[in-house]
Amino acid sequence: MTNRVFDVAVIGGGLHGLSAAMHLCRAGKRVVVLERAWVGRHASGATAAGVRTLNRDLGELDLALESMDMWHRIKSLVGDDCGFQPYGQICVAEQSDNLVKLEGRVTKLRGMGYQHEAIIDGHELRRLVPAISPHCIGGSISRGDGAADPHRTLAAFRRSAELAGAVIREGCGVRDIERSGQDWSLQLAGPAVSGQHASISVPFVVNAAGAWSGRIAAMVGDEIPLGTKASMMIVTERLAPMIKPVVSIMGRSLSFKQSDQGTLVIGGGLQGVPDLDDESSAVRLGILSKGARAATDLFPCVRNVRMVRVWSGLEAKTADLLPVVGPAVNAPGVFHAFGYSGHGFELVPVVGATLADLIVGGTTRRAIGGLNAQRLMRSQTGHDVKS
Ligand SMILES: Cc1cc2nc3c(=O)[nH]c(=O)nc-3n(C[C@H](O)[C@H](O)[C@H](O)COP(=O)(O)OP(=O)(O)OC[C@H]3O[C@@H](n4cnc5c(N)ncnc54)[C@H](O)[C@@H]3O)c2cc1C
Repeated sequence: MTNRVFDVAVIGGGLHGLSAAMHLCRAGKRVVVLERAWVGRHASGATAAGVRTLNRDLGELDLALESMDMWHRIKSLVGDDCGFQPYGQICVAEQSDNLVKLEGRVTKLRGMGYQHEAIIDGHELRRLVPAISPHCIGGSISRGDGAADPHRTLAAFRRSAELAGAVIREGCGVRDIERSGQDWSLQLAGPAVSGQHASISVPFVVNAAGAWSGRIAAMVGDEIPLGTKASMMIVTERLAPMIKPVVSIMGRSLSFKQSDQGTLVIGGGLQGVPDLDDESSAVRLGILSKGARAATDLFPCVRNVRMVRVWSGLEAKTADLLPVVGPAVNAPGVFHAFGYSGHGFELVPVVGATLADLIVGGTTRRAIGGLNAQRLMRSQTGHDVKS
């Protein structure tokens, strides 16, 4: 008989792994987080940390709305407000055809009973964002959205997970997983792995391995086709306060906000070059310049602002851009949580709670019906996911 030390092994020390560990420990499970590098090394440390329900796919909207409620009381969940500033997110229309598209979405949402998005005209847009270029004619807004501080968020979720009892092992990668009776035996490798700790046996596994989650899934028999994103970011020198909401543009790649420190943080999904084997990604300055152009088109006053740093971060992308959250198809006791396709930060509080529901109670009331792994495995013969 195995003398188990842990009930659950969470693979991946990003925000989703930490959130799952925190919720599981609070529900009474003994949890170890296995992180190949260090906590926050990949997407969760590179993120723009936008907390957005605006323009969310309907397939994850209910989950995102519940997560937004959790963000609004994040201090009670993790003991820190994570720098969350609910100043709203706005999607700006530059031309009337784009405003018509945004109006169509808001009308559709209202018809379905959702009230969180609204249309604003040019006057209201300029009231909320005085620095916006005069050519912008309006947009859609979700007033309860906002952005957080990614590093405070990481620190708060890590601290909360550890306070709840989670053991976090950094420098400890999972290189193979085998069935061993009713348990899963995880083979470990890495700088922090010594002989006696080179494997671990647990009845439950959470696959929160970010860009590498497809490899973990394959170890337990789930072949899930995934692409890889290497989203790029720009941060500028500090400026006097000029904008509070997070701004994007309909039809172009831009996310534009100002941090507490005054720096502009500019992203929006422009892609660098991913290298999963090397666990790295590279910035493509030529592509990134399109983001800078979109930013200066929208905010002419930042034309001469200096960029201070650029970076990119790795994440898994699914064919329908929705995450996989739920049980593995071919591996009892294994649960997937990955494939956020560039917008998983907002979902961190709720997905961890959902995994705890599934592992502790065997079911969840939360809206993950359309996020199962089967949908992507079925599409395997149809098409691949482009990176
Ligand atoms: C540049 C950028 C900007 C973004 N902006 C936003 C935004 O504004 N709003 C939003 O909602 N989302 C945003 N996202 C997405 C969001 O950051 C991610 O969805 C989220 O951080 C994913 O967290 P995670 O824990 O799943 O993955 P990660 O943080 O990548 O964590 C996965 C961890 O698993 C570890 N791992 C992998 N393989 C193994 C193994 N075999 N053994 C042990 N450990 C392993 C990795 O080292 C990694 O630390 C952005 C992402 C990027 C890259």
